[in-house]
Amino acid sequence: MAGIQQLNDALSNKIAAGEVVERPASIVKELIENAIDAKAKDILVEIEEGGLRSIRIVDDGIGIEKDELETAFLRHATSKIKTDRDLFSIRTLGFRGEALPSIASVSNVNIQSSTGEDGKELQLAGGEITSSKPAHARRGTTIEVTDLFYNTPARLKYLKTVLTESGHVSDVLNRMALAYPDIRFHYVSDGKTMLQTAGNNDLLQVIAQVYGRQTAAQMVAVEGDSLDYHVSGFVAKPELTRAGRQYMSIYINGRYIRNYKLANAIQQGFHTLLPIGRFPVAILKLEMDPVLIDVNVHPAKLEVRLSKEDELAEVIRTSIKKVFAQQTLIPEPSKQA
Ligand code: ADP
Ligand code: MG
Repeated sequence: MAGIQQLNDALSNKIAAGEVVERPASIVKELIENAIDAKAKDILVEIEEGGLRSIRIVDDGIGIEKDELETAFLRHATSKIKTDRDLFSIRTLGFRGEALPSIASVSNVNIQSSTGEDGKELQLAGGEITSSKPAHARRGTTIEVTDLFYNTPARLKYLKTVLTESGHVSDVLNRMALAYPDIRFHYVSDGKTMLQTAGNNDLLQVIAQVYGRQTAAQMVAVEGDSLDYHVSGFVAKPELTRAGRQYMSIYINGRYIRNYKLANAIQQGFHTLLPIGRFPVAILKLEMDPVLIDVNVHPAKLEVRLSKEDELAEVIRTSIKKVFAQQTLIPEPSKQA
């Protein structure tokens, strides 16, 4: 044994990639988050063969300064936080500075970015820069990821069929479109448009696109406040239920999260209106001061820690209860004599 030594960057990036880039859908999620953090209003996502062959994301965000493009691929390089204090008050979707170096370490990447001035294009192979040249001047960023996991054979084997992988990518797109109805998303899989939203901030319209018109027609608006929290969104009338919990989507400050307690609060809001074993359809947006959540819990940030979870659960419950108290829930008496 050679004793203890610090791993080189290439290897530590690959280790981080094990957590951050589980599959093509995780890359799509990270790259869309970067586009959103860059204030993009128009995001195109194109994948081939479930993302295994290629993933291409084009955004119209603020872009990356040309002398910072290489830096963006260094481990823990981020423009989003600077101090300890920032870490406990995260206002962006990203902050770990891990996505780009992790993704680049297990694939080939081409990136072009411009802040509106002259831009730059980089080519990376397995995390190493292989070419750098001036590029287009349109503001925004285009990133293309190919040959995913070519150098991590076990991960490649673990991936499922094209159909499964593109299904996961669709889930990511649906969540992002629901979270950001003010952004135009266009998602193309193997040349076919799977989702295209208008970006006109009409959440109900996005619900119709994701879940279908019939579901959207059953949705009612929810709104509520407590001292620390604002709740808004839509829930389906109890006539429309589902067999699984996955139709309850919760977003905190624009981030899709999973939280058992909050999902339970949604169900409790329906009180006895839900048949046993059936679950509601809900899209709930929770807004709060970022000091109240700790997102630095999970590399993919799917789980967060909430400082006043009980208060939040209570606002959710009461906001939903209020909606159904206003509705006529008892069927109209039949008009027949
Ligand atoms: P993080 O998002 O956690 O900061 P990333 O590795 O995902 O880390 O990205 C590194 C940095 O590169 C970001 O902080 C941001 O400054 C820049 N960046 C990445 N993608 C984009 C993009 N699409 N538009 C503008 N800047 C970007
Ligand atoms: Mg990021």
